[in-house]
Amino acid sequence: PNNDGLDWKKAPCRFCGVGCGVLIGVEDGKAVAVKGDPNSSVNKGLCCVKGYHSILAIYGKDRLTHPLVMKNGKYEKTTMKEALDLIASKMQSTIKEHGKDSVSIYGSGQWTIPDGYVASKLFKGCIGTNNVEANARLCMASAVTGFMTSFGIDEPMGCYEDIDHADVFVLWGNNMAEMHPVLFSRLLDQRQKRNVKIIDFATRTTRTSMAADRSILFKPNTDLAVANAICYEIIKNNWTNKSFIENYCNFKKGLTKMGYGLEDNYSFTDKPQAIDFEDYKKFLEDYTPEKVEKISGVSAQDIKYMASFYGNQNTKVMSLWCMGMNQHTRGTWINNLVYNIHLLTGKISTPGNSPFSLTGQPSACGTVREVGTLTHKLPHGVVTNPEHRAHAAKIWNVPVENIPSKPTYHTVEMFRALDRGEIRFMWIQVTNPMVTMPKLKRYRDATKKEGRFIVVSDIYPTPTTDIADVILPSAMWIEREGMYGNSERRTQYFEQMINPPGEAMSDTWQLIEVAKRMGFEKQFYYNKETHIEEIYNEYRRHHEGKKHNMAPLEVLKSQPGAQWPYVNGKSTKWRFNAKYDPACDDGKEFQFYGNKDGKATIWQRPYEHAPEEPDNEYPYWLCTGRVIEHWHSGSMTRRVPILHKAMPHSYVEINPDEAKELQIKTGDKVRLTTRRGTMILPASVNERGVPVRRQVFVPFFDENLLINDLTLDAFCPISKQPDYKKCAVKIEKV
Ligand code: SF4
Repeated sequence: PNNDGLDWKKAPCRFCGVGCGVLIGVEDGKAVAVKGDPNSSVNKGLCCVKGYHSILAIYGKDRLTHPLVMKNGKYEKTTMKEALDLIASKMQSTIKEHGKDSVSIYGSGQWTIPDGYVASKLFKGCIGTNNVEANARLCMASAVTGFMTSFGIDEPMGCYEDIDHADVFVLWGNNMAEMHPVLFSRLLDQRQKRNVKIIDFATRTTRTSMAADRSILFKPNTDLAVANAICYEIIKNNWTNKSFIENYCNFKKGLTKMGYGLEDNYSFTDKPQAIDFEDYKKFLEDYTPEKVEKISGVSAQDIKYMASFYGNQNTKVMSLWCMGMNQHTRGTWINNLVYNIHLLTGKISTPGNSPFSLTGQPSACGTVREVGTLTHKLPHGVVTNPEHRAHAAKIWNVPVENIPSKPTYHTVEMFRALDRGEIRFMWIQVTNPMVTMPKLKRYRDATKKEGRFIVVSDIYPTPTTDIADVILPSAMWIEREGMYGNSERRTQYFEQMINPPGEAMSDTWQLIEVAKRMGFEKQFYYNKETHIEEIYNEYRRHHEGKKHNMAPLEVLKSQPGAQWPYVNGKSTKWRFNAKYDPACDDGKEFQFYGNKDGKATIWQRPYEHAPEEPDNEYPYWLCTGRVIEHWHSGSMTRRVPILHKAMPHSYVEINPDEAKELQIKTGDKVRLTTRRGTMILPASVNERGVPVRRQVFVPFFDENLLINDLTLDAFCPISKQPDYKKCAVKIEKV
């Protein structure tokens, strides 16, 4: 109702990748109320606890309001003009002394689309370095390489509407009830209406398991074996969709034993080889349900039960996953394996049949994947492709030679390069790596080394601002204008509703100011009043065409988002299916047009061990993750009193049987030790989550209990995404 005196304006929620639409009530220049947007097809008026409290995250008492510069071991207040002058001159002098690849920017899946776009344009197009990365490397890079290797093109073929059509939901290592709560409520809603089934397949019992029809537990890292066993069962029982496979799939195998990126300067090239169906069938003989039961701890009966849903021709299945599969040293492989299941059965790209990779952050898709803020990417392309470089250079108005043709450092390597001294200048925006990097101590120490210069743009003090030479106060969310892109290819716009405090400025405009000072006025021609519109219109040019077209800004302003490819005034809900996707133009029912032959790839990918597994000295697995109350590193939600009180500190979840054996009760102090470090945490037994035996779980939101000092920086060699879910740990009652 509009009779409450408030000015209600629409925005996507600031927090997770679900991308709920919210309405913000503004009064006297302050955001005073928030509610779910009933017109949003994403959340239909609902929000979760973070969404309902989102505006309180704006008004924490210690907002950064003025720039701070480190002088003689102390932070001194300065003006924005002086801070931006200093940053520009420091970048120029670093480039002069150490070369272009000595400067870098590390951003975020919480960057708006314009933030990421101008960062990429400045660093890749103008300065001429591919030292652009974003924290989304830590959360969904394996999903990207999974899509690229299976389909030759990124991002889900389906959409949230699949939930309204599917009969069975298989959640692969995905505590959706806490991490994607509003979307999970849509699953529960369907179960009430249609008696659908929810299968939770995980290494710990969570709130998701409690709401699921079945909870099936597996030993860490063995999801690879179980996925192969499901494929074995599908083939054995003749549940394959033969004509779909023949027309739309081919088979390949890649390298095995690829290493885990634990050493510096890790390089790796996969060598895919074509195989045929018979080769693949033979490979799967190592993965009978009975053999895999021994590896995974999942009974052969349960493996057959899971396979039966995928195999039943009358059942529509949606597979959903997020960090459990992506933060995995074989993250690309496990993504491929779940696609295999859907491809073998032809259960893909039709309403309700949908392998669906969820993203964690509000614009991991919109900004990192679509804008391309990763070292190897360009907006709609890759740096290694000369045509893509030429296309980007033309739009950016820079000589094509400016854009280097080789990627430089992915995230872990970028921090290693800072440690080694190859990178001397790093600008960090909207992210908190001094809480979130694995094997954190090495990278924290790196930032403090002589001759390193770190700029941090944020809204609150964090462990990352603690290591900065310059701290810039940023405008948050609705204090500026922008767009996010959510998990279902939906781009959503929000206007500036309130003023930022003090001299706080949007990350976009900070970058533009520095670019102008560095002599790139021609490329950064934007007008202060209209720059977001100018940037978005320029950005859309990169994506023109039926496969990726973005909706015009006026469409985004008038409705709660639009899904790309946006063609002939319409969003595309299901890609690669000629009935729904205008980019399918070869006359066939399906066309996986990311690959030249229009076919998707079924991959032969084996089960392999993790790089560090429990042994006599460190007998448990350590798994880390999130909780519903807190957004990632907690820098915003820990300043919302009600969320902070609900979840004030971190803890270690221990299996109740093992806790009994060790005489540990909830609240007892427990020392965790890995090869990287040690820390003491309160125990949690039989509370929110229950890990499988030989595994403990610790949330990472608490900056006072930095669990990432203990984690391992091994990563998937294809996606370069670290595995935060598995390393070996010792536990002792203190
Ligand atoms: Fe926000 Fe995610 Fe909660 Fe929706 S589910 S309200 S997007 S945090």
